[in-house]
Amino acid sequence: MRAIAVTPGVASSARLVEVAEPNLGPGQVLVRTLQVGICGTDAEINRGFIAESAPGGDYLILGHESLGRVEALGEGPQGLALGDYVVATVRRPCPQDCLNCHNGESDMCLTGNFTERGIVGIHGFLTECYVEEPRYLVKVPPALKDVAVLLEPLSVVEKAVSQTFAIQGRLRWQPRTAVVVGVGAIGLLAVALLRLRGLETHALARSARGTPASQVAEAMGATYWSTREHPLDGLARELGNIDIVVEASGNAEAALQAMGIIGNNGILSLVGVYSPIYRGEQQVPVGRLVLDMVLGNRVVFGSVNASRRYFEVGLEHMAEMESRWPGVLGRFLTRRLSLDDFPGALEKAGGDIKTVIDVGEE
Ligand code: BGC
Repeated sequence: MRAIAVTPGVASSARLVEVAEPNLGPGQVLVRTLQVGICGTDAEINRGFIAESAPGGDYLILGHESLGRVEALGEGPQGLALGDYVVATVRRPCPQDCLNCHNGESDMCLTGNFTERGIVGIHGFLTECYVEEPRYLVKVPPALKDVAVLLEPLSVVEKAVSQTFAIQGRLRWQPRTAVVVGVGAIGLLAVALLRLRGLETHALARSARGTPASQVAEAMGATYWSTREHPLDGLARELGNIDIVVEASGNAEAALQAMGIIGNNGILSLVGVYSPIYRGEQQVPVGRLVLDMVLGNRVVFGSVNASRRYFEVGLEHMAEMESRWPGVLGRFLTRRLSLDDFPGALEKAGGDIKTVIDVGEE
């Protein structure tokens, strides 16, 4: 069967390959892949960063944002039925079975020896079918199947927003104003969750207003600001105290600037997959940044991946988004390609929010 693979560590190695069909073992599920979303992590991998090969070869099948359909069930109880729509979680526990992996929260793995499907050490979903254990498959209601390929990125944002509020349990807090930096799919999903929580939400990116992303942000009731006219570092003067900042641009320089706009008692979550090589030219006012952190009781934290519970709450929120802003999630899916269109899919097209590869037919 066909798959898209990279050679980890080698830039521009994404290619179409032929691989053997997986064998279905007892207690496992065979899933036919329908759609796979492409994200910044896939592009970073194809620049030669992050990824590790799967055992027994020097390649890795890409793809971690999936939607599939159950095609066959191995022996034993599964909790799933033939034809169910499913989204797979990404991270798998470390061999040491650390405290968090042991408790189903490998997104908080202590050892760093976890694996991630399509990213670190296990093949991903950009292939015609795959085999998985039912505990890593989240069943999707048919009503959400057309947008459920967004569930994995949403789960990442669910975690960051939920942790924001959990951390802020440290004080009396009535957040009013939120800023999201970056309007890729992750940024826009953060806008959606913050709007569902009733926050006055501001979305920021470089492009002038009028892009599909700025329109989607506005359709969800956010205000869109182009940083060309409203640079990030001046935003605090325009908006007053900023309670929540989500940095989703994946640009390390923007992340540094985002630290400077957190208001008193405010909190910033970093959710981008930043290039390990900092190419910014900005002089960083380190003294001012750390002093303001102290004097303003500010928090900066990083958040990665998501455990199963964030996928489950994500499904509830997707249904809420669909009823509050009908059709808005569909507007995230701006480019549809087939497996044959690789590796062009990894280059961002103008105006693109989310590229989806249609791998199989229902
Ligand atoms: C994925 C996460 C993953 C992270 C780092 C993101 O794109 O959505 O599941 O943990 O990359 O590898």
